[in-house]
Amino acid sequence: MTQPLTQPHLSDDDLQLAAATAPLPAAAAAHLPGCRLCQARATAYQQLFAAAARLPPPAFAFDLTAAVLAQLPRPQPAFPWVLALVAVLVLGVVGAFMALFGGALGQAFHGLSTGLGAGLAVVAGFLVAGQGLELLARHRRQMRLLAFS
Ligand SMILES: [Zn+2]
Repeated sequence: MTQPLTQPHLSDDDLQLAAATAPLPAAAAAHLPGCRLCQARATAYQQLFAAAARLPPPAFAFDLTAAVLAQLPRPQPAFPWVLALVAVLVLGVVGAFMALFGGALGQAFHGLSTGLGAGLAVVAGFLVAGQGLELLARHRRQMRLLAFS
């Protein structure tokens, strides 16, 4: 130690900063160049950091993914059938409505066409069926996202 030491030795925090070549507090930065002990300690931290960086990632003795998945609530496979049941019920209600009031609608549009009521029923049926199918497809997509595939 050739230079007089006006500052105390570096703290562990400052030694780790020096090892990582991060900016040091002014007092520590002034002390370090003149102190072989602190330089040696910083070098030791540097070697420790380098050794830690070379360590392989931790490997678990068990299947972590399976353990986590086992804790998650399972998607209910019966749910799409509930959706299908709802779609069938809606179709039934629409069908009953058309059967009950289709005649009145047909009379209302009697001047235009006699097949208009049936055409409306078919179009409404297609619309409802399409909505139900899209609902099912969206549900399957969300279930696939949940499956972590
Ligand atoms: Zn020192």
